[in-house]
Amino acid sequence: MRMMYGYQMPTQLIIGAGCIEKTKEQLKNYGTQAYIITGKHASKKNGSLEDVKKALESQKINYHLFDEVEANPSLETLQKAVDQVKNEKIDFIIGIGGGSPIDAAKGIAVLLASPNLCSTTLIGGEAKGHLPVVAVPTTAGTGTEVTQYAIVTDHKDKTKKNIGHRVFPSLAYLDATYMMGMAHELTQSTAVDAMSHLVESYLNKKSNSLSEAYVQQGLQLFGECIASLLDGRYTYEIREKLLLASTLGGMAIAQTGTSLPHGMGYSLTYHKGVLHGLANGVLYNAYLDCFKDQTKVDKIVQWMGLESREHLRGLLQKLCPSEGITLTEEELERYSLDIYSNKAKTSNHPEEVTKEMLEAIYRKSLKII
Ligand code: NAP
Ligand code: FE
Repeated sequence: MRMMYGYQMPTQLIIGAGCIEKTKEQLKNYGTQAYIITGKHASKKNGSLEDVKKALESQKINYHLFDEVEANPSLETLQKAVDQVKNEKIDFIIGIGGGSPIDAAKGIAVLLASPNLCSTTLIGGEAKGHLPVVAVPTTAGTGTEVTQYAIVTDHKDKTKKNIGHRVFPSLAYLDATYMMGMAHELTQSTAVDAMSHLVESYLNKKSNSLSEAYVQQGLQLFGECIASLLDGRYTYEIREKLLLASTLGGMAIAQTGTSLPHGMGYSLTYHKGVLHGLANGVLYNAYLDCFKDQTKVDKIVQWMGLESREHLRGLLQKLCPSEGITLTEEELERYSLDIYSNKAKTSNHPEEVTKEMLEAIYRKSLKII
């Protein structure tokens, strides 16, 4: 029986250098009082925060600023941001930064619209909708500007989780200018995150004709950036291609979700502090090797413009060095059990997932001590 599927991507995108300044009157559609959510430093250095502030001032929109979002934001940070504006009437949220501030912005948008919820009840609680979110990505990896997901750290359960409330940004500004000064290592890791969204969407039970169109185009763009990702030289055109590949990856996983490497990488990020993209990427060769339908893996190689699976293997090894990430036997067992019981991820894998298979992926990818 053929699968039934739906399609939703309600985010308005405005793309190109200087796009905030050029279309700043759009912001008036969302109200007269904004809450800007960002990380500690990057948005001040790359000009994105300044551009947003100027645009708001020109439109006579008041704003408050919370600039304390850490990488892999915790539920406690979301609550702190909410508490800071508890006496204000906020109309909309602007998330500026990598996936962390934008995901935090989504969680804050739910909490501000749902006074019945707080950080400890956000996941699993009933929300009363969310405030509109405007996203300004300054990394090219997560695609969160076009997804309904918001990934937060739950210290109580010692892992990362999706908040479970659907928050598609209403508007996203895609300006690759903000990525021009990004360090090579972060560029590689975030690009691998984008690639892993595209691949996990395709090697997914829910993959369909529409999501596959994004995957094909996204992997082609990623393929055109491989030389730069290896030698560390990034022109504006390359930065924009990486950003579009990331957004296409987001559009694809918005339809299908991610799969095993994302679920498995969360433990490496939470317990070992490994960057999100790298945490997925180090597992990739073993994941692709155990994927049953190798004709799909061949398609990925072809769409990236690579000659063979061996070329992809070498590329992943270079982009995702695993030296320095070690697991004990006890950690291996515990992390494998965590992902084995994460049905949201294992159910997206088209074959039956066994605990042995997950253990084997960790074992083949990392040094076990
Ligand atoms: P991030 O955690 O947002 O940021 C990582 C670092 O990059 C921070 O130190 C940040 O600095 C810095 N940074 C941001 N923009 C920069 C720029 N233009 N130049 C230089 N440095 C910059 O990284 P991310 O990889 O974008 O996001 C990862 C998070 O997104 C994870 O929590 C992951 O689980 C989540 N995620 C979400 C989705 C989704 O659909 N919602 C999908 C995949 C991943 P500051 O701290 O100073 O800002
Ligand atoms: Fe990701």
